[in-house]
Amino acid sequence: MSNKGNKNVVLIVCDCLRSDCAYNEKIMPFLSNLRKRKDFYYNKNSYTNAPGTYFAMPTMLTGYMPFEKTNQAGIDKYNSDQFLPRLYKKIGFTTIGITANLVTSRAFGFDRFWDTFIDLWKARKKAIKKKLRADKIFKSLQTIKLNRENNLIFLHFIDPHSPYIPNNLVAKQKSEAMKLFIKLTKNKTCLTLKDIENMKLLYKEECKYLDRYLKLTISYLEMKLKWDKTKLVITADHGEAFYETNYLQHERDHIDNLHHINTPLITKNIKLSKKTYWTTDIYNMLLPDTLPKVKSHQVCIGYKKVFDSVADIKDRLKNPKIKQKYIPYIKNDLKNIKIIKNIKQLQYKCQKNYILKYKSYINT
Ligand SMILES: [Zn+2]
Repeated sequence: MSNKGNKNVVLIVCDCLRSDCAYNEKIMPFLSNLRKRKDFYYNKNSYTNAPGTYFAMPTMLTGYMPFEKTNQAGIDKYNSDQFLPRLYKKIGFTTIGITANLVTSRAFGFDRFWDTFIDLWKARKKAIKKKLRADKIFKSLQTIKLNRENNLIFLHFIDPHSPYIPNNLVAKQKSEAMKLFIKLTKNKTCLTLKDIENMKLLYKEECKYLDRYLKLTISYLEMKLKWDKTKLVITADHGEAFYETNYLQHERDHIDNLHHINTPLITKNIKLSKKTYWTTDIYNMLLPDTLPKVKSHQVCIGYKKVFDSVADIKDRLKNPKIKQKYIPYIKNDLKNIKIIKNIKQLQYKCQKNYILKYKSYINT
Protein backbone atom coordinates (compact mmCIF):
# COMPACT_ATOMS: atom_id res chain seq x y z
CA MET A 1 0.00 0.00 0.00
CA SER A 2 1.10 3.55 -0.53
CA ASN A 3 0.14 7.01 0.54
CA LYS A 4 -0.06 8.09 -3.14
CA GLY A 5 2.06 11.19 -3.84
CA ASN A 6 2.65 12.22 -0.25
CA LYS A 7 5.58 10.74 1.61
CA ASN A 8 5.17 12.47 4.95
CA VAL A 9 2.20 13.58 7.03
CA VAL A 10 2.66 16.25 9.72
CA LEU A 11 0.00 17.43 12.17
CA ILE A 12 0.74 20.44 14.37
CA VAL A 13 -1.86 21.25 17.03
CA CYS A 14 -1.60 24.58 18.84
CA ASP A 15 -3.84 24.21 21.88
CA CYS A 16 -6.27 27.12 22.42
CA LEU A 17 -5.00 29.09 19.41
CA ARG A 18 -7.63 31.51 18.11
CA SER A 19 -7.79 31.95 14.34
CA ASP A 20 -7.83 35.76 14.65
CA CYS A 21 -4.39 35.62 16.34
CA ALA A 22 -3.03 32.92 14.01
CA TYR A 23 -3.95 35.04 10.98
CA ASN A 24 -2.68 38.32 12.43
CA GLU A 25 0.71 39.39 11.04
CA LYS A 26 1.51 41.49 14.09
CA ILE A 27 0.90 38.64 16.54
CA MET A 28 2.03 35.60 14.54
CA PRO A 29 4.04 36.90 11.59
CA PHE A 30 5.45 33.51 10.67
CA LEU A 31 2.19 31.58 10.76
CA SER A 32 0.08 34.26 9.10
CA ASN A 33 2.58 34.54 6.23
CA LEU A 34 3.08 30.78 5.94
CA ARG A 35 -0.43 30.41 4.55
CA LYS A 36 0.55 32.62 1.58
CA ARG A 37 3.42 30.35 0.50
CA LYS A 38 3.30 28.10 -2.55
CA ASP A 39 1.34 24.87 -1.95
CA PHE A 40 -0.20 26.27 1.25
CA TYR A 41 -3.90 26.83 1.88
CA TYR A 42 -5.95 28.23 4.75
CA ASN A 43 -9.53 28.50 5.84
CA LYS A 44 -11.41 30.93 8.05
CA ASN A 45 -14.40 28.68 8.77
CA SER A 46 -12.90 25.90 10.79
CA TYR A 47 -14.57 24.51 13.92
CA THR A 48 -13.93 21.74 16.37
CA ASN A 49 -16.31 18.91 17.19
CA ALA A 50 -15.71 19.38 20.92
CA PRO A 51 -14.89 22.50 22.93
CA GLY A 52 -12.13 20.89 25.02
CA THR A 53 -8.98 18.84 24.50
CA TYR A 54 -10.44 15.79 26.27
CA PHE A 55 -12.76 15.00 23.34
CA ALA A 56 -11.49 17.19 20.48
CA MET A 57 -8.11 15.48 20.23
CA PRO A 58 -9.43 11.89 20.19
CA THR A 59 -11.75 13.00 17.36
CA MET A 60 -8.90 14.60 15.41
CA LEU A 61 -6.79 11.45 15.69
CA THR A 62 -9.49 8.76 15.34
CA GLY A 63 -12.26 10.38 13.28
CA TYR A 64 -14.86 9.19 15.81
CA MET A 65 -17.17 11.80 17.25
CA PRO A 66 -17.03 12.49 20.99
CA PHE A 67 -18.97 9.76 22.82
CA GLU A 68 -19.54 7.85 19.58
CA LYS A 69 -17.39 4.90 20.64
CA THR A 70 -16.37 5.60 24.21
CA ASN A 71 -17.40 7.83 27.09
CA GLN A 72 -13.77 8.16 28.18
CA ALA A 73 -11.49 10.98 27.15
CA GLY A 74 -8.46 9.69 25.25
CA ILE A 75 -7.60 6.62 23.25
CA ASP A 76 -8.89 3.25 24.40
CA LYS A 77 -9.78 -0.16 22.97
CA TYR A 78 -13.06 1.22 21.60
CA ASN A 79 -11.67 3.99 19.38
CA SER A 80 -8.07 2.95 18.71
CA ASP A 81 -8.92 0.98 15.53
CA GLN A 82 -8.96 4.30 13.64
CA PHE A 83 -6.09 5.94 15.57
CA LEU A 84 -3.82 7.55 12.97
CA PRO A 85 -0.44 6.20 14.17
CA ARG A 86 -1.89 2.69 14.15
CA LEU A 87 -3.09 3.11 10.54
CA TYR A 88 0.22 4.61 9.40
CA LYS A 89 2.27 1.88 11.05
CA LYS A 90 0.28 -0.64 9.02
CA ILE A 91 1.48 0.98 5.77
CA GLY A 92 5.10 1.09 6.93
CA PHE A 93 5.38 4.68 8.13
CA THR A 94 7.54 5.75 11.05
CA THR A 95 5.22 7.34 13.60
CA ILE A 96 6.41 10.12 15.89
CA GLY A 97 4.31 11.91 18.52
CA ILE A 98 5.50 14.70 20.80
CA THR A 99 3.06 16.39 23.15
CA ALA A 100 3.20 19.05 25.85
CA ASN A 101 -0.43 18.47 26.83
CA LEU A 102 -1.23 15.93 29.54
CA VAL A 103 -4.54 15.20 27.83
CA THR A 104 -2.70 13.75 24.82
CA SER A 105 -0.09 11.98 26.96
CA ARG A 106 0.21 8.44 28.28
CA ALA A 107 -2.26 9.41 31.02
CA PHE A 108 -5.04 9.32 28.43
CA GLY A 109 -3.76 6.37 26.37
CA PHE A 110 -2.21 8.38 23.53
CA ASP A 111 1.20 6.69 23.87
CA ARG A 112 0.35 3.46 22.07
CA PHE A 113 1.12 2.72 18.38
CA TRP A 114 3.93 5.28 17.98
CA ASP A 115 7.50 4.33 17.14
CA THR A 116 8.63 7.33 19.16
CA PHE A 117 6.36 9.03 21.68
CA ILE A 118 7.57 11.86 23.90
CA ASP A 119 5.09 13.28 26.42
CA LEU A 120 7.60 15.12 28.64
CA TRP A 121 6.32 13.02 31.52
CA LYS A 122 9.02 13.93 34.00
CA ALA A 123 8.28 17.65 33.58
CA ARG A 124 4.68 17.17 34.72
CA LYS A 125 4.96 17.42 38.47
CA LYS A 126 2.53 20.33 38.35
CA ALA A 127 -0.39 20.82 36.03
CA ILE A 128 0.94 24.11 34.70
CA LYS A 129 3.03 24.41 31.60
CA LYS A 130 6.26 25.79 33.04
CA LYS A 131 8.55 23.12 31.63
CA LEU A 132 6.32 22.14 28.77
CA ARG A 133 6.86 25.01 26.42
CA ALA A 134 7.43 25.04 22.67
CA ASP A 135 11.23 24.93 23.09
CA LYS A 136 10.86 21.48 24.70
CA ILE A 137 8.85 20.18 21.75
CA PHE A 138 11.40 21.59 19.31
CA LYS A 139 14.35 20.17 21.27
CA SER A 140 12.63 16.77 21.53
CA LEU A 141 12.03 16.74 17.79
CA GLN A 142 15.71 17.42 17.17
CA THR A 143 16.68 14.33 19.21
CA ILE A 144 14.86 12.02 16.78
CA LYS A 145 16.62 10.70 13.72
CA LEU A 146 14.24 11.46 10.88
CA ASN A 147 14.09 9.63 7.59
CA ARG A 148 13.29 11.84 4.61
CA GLU A 149 10.17 9.88 3.75
CA ASN A 150 7.32 7.88 5.26
CA ASN A 151 6.86 9.70 8.54
CA LEU A 152 3.72 10.54 10.47
CA ILE A 153 4.65 13.38 12.83
CA PHE A 154 2.29 14.80 15.47
CA LEU A 155 3.32 17.82 17.55
CA HIS A 156 1.03 19.25 20.25
CA PHE A 157 2.00 22.71 21.58
CA ILE A 158 0.26 24.26 24.59
CA ASP A 159 1.76 27.74 24.84
CA PRO A 160 -1.49 29.70 24.23
CA HIS A 161 -3.27 27.65 26.95
CA SER A 162 -3.75 29.26 30.36
CA PRO A 163 -1.95 30.17 32.57
CA TYR A 164 -0.96 33.05 30.31
CA ILE A 165 2.49 33.73 31.74
CA PRO A 166 4.85 34.55 28.87
CA ASN A 167 8.54 33.76 29.35
CA ASN A 168 9.68 37.30 28.60
CA LEU A 169 8.01 38.92 31.64
CA VAL A 170 10.08 40.34 34.48
CA ALA A 171 9.50 38.91 37.98
CA LYS A 172 6.93 41.51 39.02
CA GLN A 173 4.93 41.07 35.82
CA LYS A 174 5.08 37.29 36.25
CA SER A 175 3.59 37.52 39.70
CA GLU A 176 0.80 39.82 38.39
CA ALA A 177 0.10 37.33 35.59
CA MET A 178 -0.02 34.51 38.15
CA LYS A 179 -2.49 36.48 40.25
CA LEU A 180 -4.73 36.82 37.21
CA PHE A 181 -4.52 33.09 36.59
CA ILE A 182 -5.49 32.32 40.17
CA LYS A 183 -8.48 34.65 39.83
CA LEU A 184 -9.40 32.98 36.55
CA THR A 185 -9.35 29.48 38.02
CA LYS A 186 -10.50 30.06 41.58
CA ASN A 187 -12.39 33.31 41.74
CA LYS A 188 -13.80 34.35 38.39
CA THR A 189 -16.31 36.71 39.93
CA CYS A 190 -13.44 38.94 41.06
CA LEU A 191 -12.21 39.49 37.52
CA THR A 192 -12.72 42.96 36.09
CA LEU A 193 -12.88 43.88 32.43
CA LYS A 194 -9.44 45.42 32.88
CA ASP A 195 -8.18 42.02 34.10
CA ILE A 196 -9.59 40.40 30.99
CA GLU A 197 -7.95 42.96 28.74
CA ASN A 198 -4.66 42.20 30.50
CA MET A 199 -5.20 38.46 30.04
CA LYS A 200 -5.76 39.04 26.33
CA LEU A 201 -2.43 40.88 26.09
CA LEU A 202 -0.67 38.05 27.92
CA TYR A 203 -2.34 35.49 25.65
CA LYS A 204 -1.10 37.39 22.59
CA GLU A 205 2.45 37.31 23.99
CA GLU A 206 2.15 33.55 24.36
CA CYS A 207 1.07 33.36 20.71
CA LYS A 208 4.09 35.45 19.67
CA TYR A 209 6.38 33.07 21.54
CA LEU A 210 4.73 30.05 19.92
CA ASP A 211 5.10 31.67 16.49
CA ARG A 212 8.87 31.85 16.88
CA TYR A 213 9.03 28.12 17.62
CA LEU A 214 6.64 27.26 14.80
CA LYS A 215 9.09 29.02 12.50
CA LEU A 216 12.02 26.98 13.85
CA THR A 217 10.00 23.76 13.72
CA ILE A 218 8.78 24.22 10.14
CA SER A 219 12.26 25.27 8.93
CA TYR A 220 13.70 22.16 10.59
CA LEU A 221 11.12 19.84 9.05
CA GLU A 222 11.57 21.53 5.67
CA MET A 223 15.28 20.74 5.88
CA LYS A 224 14.91 17.16 7.14
CA LEU A 225 11.92 15.86 5.18
CA LYS A 226 11.14 15.49 1.51
CA TRP A 227 9.21 18.73 1.78
CA ASP A 228 7.51 18.85 -1.62
CA LYS A 229 5.95 15.48 -0.78
CA THR A 230 4.87 16.42 2.74
CA LYS A 231 1.25 16.91 3.76
CA LEU A 232 0.97 19.36 6.64
CA VAL A 233 -1.92 20.52 8.82
CA ILE A 234 -1.54 23.30 11.39
CA THR A 235 -4.61 23.80 13.54
CA ALA A 236 -5.95 24.07 17.10
CA ASP A 237 -8.06 21.61 19.05
CA HIS A 238 -10.34 24.56 19.99
CA GLY A 239 -10.02 28.30 20.43
CA GLU A 240 -10.14 30.45 23.53
CA ALA A 241 -12.73 33.01 24.69
CA PHE A 242 -12.05 36.35 26.32
CA TYR A 243 -15.50 37.30 27.47
CA GLU A 244 -16.87 38.07 24.00
CA THR A 245 -20.24 36.71 25.07
CA ASN A 246 -19.54 36.60 28.80
CA TYR A 247 -17.54 33.38 28.57
CA LEU A 248 -13.89 32.72 29.26
CA GLN A 249 -11.38 30.11 28.06
CA HIS A 250 -13.00 27.07 26.40
CA GLU A 251 -15.87 25.97 28.54
CA ARG A 252 -16.70 22.42 27.75
CA ASP A 253 -20.41 22.42 28.44
CA HIS A 254 -21.35 25.75 26.82
CA ILE A 255 -21.13 25.12 23.12
CA ASP A 256 -23.94 27.58 22.39
CA ASN A 257 -21.19 30.21 22.45
CA LEU A 258 -19.31 28.99 19.44
CA HIS A 259 -16.91 31.91 19.31
CA HIS A 260 -14.49 29.87 21.42
CA ILE A 261 -14.31 26.90 19.08
CA ASN A 262 -13.31 28.72 15.87
CA THR A 263 -9.85 27.41 15.00
CA PRO A 264 -7.10 28.25 12.51
CA LEU A 265 -6.59 25.80 9.67
CA ILE A 266 -3.46 26.02 7.52
CA THR A 267 -2.47 23.17 5.22
CA LYS A 268 0.26 22.25 2.78
CA ASN A 269 -0.42 19.96 -0.19
CA ILE A 270 -4.07 19.72 0.94
CA LYS A 271 -6.38 21.99 -1.04
CA LEU A 272 -8.97 23.84 0.99
CA SER A 273 -12.11 25.62 -0.17
CA LYS A 274 -14.11 28.31 1.62
CA LYS A 275 -16.52 25.77 3.09
CA THR A 276 -16.81 25.02 6.80
CA TYR A 277 -14.34 22.46 8.10
CA TRP A 278 -14.77 20.44 11.30
CA THR A 279 -12.42 18.16 13.24
CA THR A 280 -13.70 15.10 11.37
CA ASP A 281 -12.70 16.82 8.09
CA ILE A 282 -9.18 17.30 9.48
CA TYR A 283 -9.02 13.59 10.30
CA ASN A 284 -9.98 12.85 6.69
CA MET A 285 -7.21 15.13 5.41
CA LEU A 286 -4.68 13.21 7.53
CA LEU A 287 -5.87 9.68 6.67
CA PRO A 288 -3.70 7.55 4.38
CA ASP A 289 -4.99 8.26 0.85
CA THR A 290 -5.87 4.61 0.31
CA LEU A 291 -8.37 4.45 3.19
CA PRO A 292 -12.05 5.45 2.94
CA LYS A 293 -13.00 8.78 4.51
CA VAL A 294 -15.13 8.94 7.66
CA LYS A 295 -18.41 10.84 7.77
CA SER A 296 -17.92 14.54 8.41
CA HIS A 297 -20.06 15.83 11.28
CA GLN A 298 -20.89 19.52 11.39
CA VAL A 299 -21.68 19.55 15.04
CA CYS A 300 -20.00 20.36 18.31
CA ILE A 301 -20.56 18.09 21.29
CA GLY A 302 -20.22 19.77 24.66
CA TYR A 303 -19.82 17.71 27.81
CA LYS A 304 -20.54 18.09 31.46
CA LYS A 305 -17.79 18.76 33.87
CA VAL A 306 -18.54 15.94 36.25
CA PHE A 307 -15.13 16.02 37.82
CA ASP A 308 -12.72 18.57 39.13
CA SER A 309 -10.27 19.01 36.28
CA VAL A 310 -7.32 19.81 38.55
CA ALA A 311 -8.01 16.73 40.67
CA ASP A 312 -8.42 14.76 37.47
CA ILE A 313 -5.00 15.81 36.23
CA LYS A 314 -3.37 15.04 39.59
CA ASP A 315 -5.05 11.62 39.69
CA ARG A 316 -3.91 10.89 36.17
CA LEU A 317 -0.35 11.76 37.05
CA LYS A 318 -0.45 9.25 39.89
CA ASN A 319 -2.27 6.58 37.97
CA PRO A 320 -2.79 6.94 34.22
CA LYS A 321 -5.29 4.07 34.21
CA ILE A 322 -7.75 5.87 36.45
CA LYS A 323 -11.24 6.28 34.98
CA GLN A 324 -13.28 9.46 35.21
CA LYS A 325 -16.87 10.26 34.42
CA TYR A 326 -17.75 12.34 31.41
CA ILE A 327 -21.30 13.01 30.28
CA PRO A 328 -22.21 14.61 26.96
CA TYR A 329 -24.06 17.88 27.29
CA ILE A 330 -25.84 17.14 24.05
CA LYS A 331 -26.87 13.52 23.86
CA ASN A 332 -24.79 12.04 21.10
CA ASP A 333 -27.53 10.67 18.94
CA LEU A 334 -25.84 11.18 15.61
CA LYS A 335 -28.97 10.33 13.64
CA ASN A 336 -31.18 12.88 15.33
CA ILE A 337 -28.71 15.46 16.51
CA LYS A 338 -29.30 19.03 15.39
CA ILE A 339 -26.82 19.80 12.64
CA ILE A 340 -25.39 23.29 12.75
CA LYS A 341 -25.77 24.62 9.21
CA ASN A 342 -24.76 28.20 9.64
CA ILE A 343 -22.78 29.28 12.68
CA LYS A 344 -23.31 32.97 12.00
CA GLN A 345 -27.05 32.56 12.42
CA LEU A 346 -26.76 31.02 15.86
CA GLN A 347 -27.74 33.30 18.67
CA TYR A 348 -25.17 33.56 21.41
CA LYS A 349 -26.70 33.03 24.78
CA CYS A 350 -25.04 35.20 27.35
CA GLN A 351 -26.02 33.02 30.26
CA LYS A 352 -23.09 33.62 32.54
CA ASN A 353 -21.76 36.83 33.88
CA TYR A 354 -18.59 36.34 35.85
CA ILE A 355 -17.76 39.97 36.19
CA LEU A 356 -19.76 41.20 39.11
CA LYS A 357 -17.56 44.26 39.21
CA TYR A 358 -18.49 45.14 35.64
CA LYS A 359 -20.59 48.17 36.57
CA SER A 360 -18.06 49.60 38.95
CA TYR A 361 -15.37 49.13 36.30
CA ILE A 362 -17.18 51.04 33.57
CA ASN A 363 -18.10 53.79 36.00
CA THR A 364 -14.51 54.47 36.94
ZN1 LIG B 1 -7.07 21.99 24.27
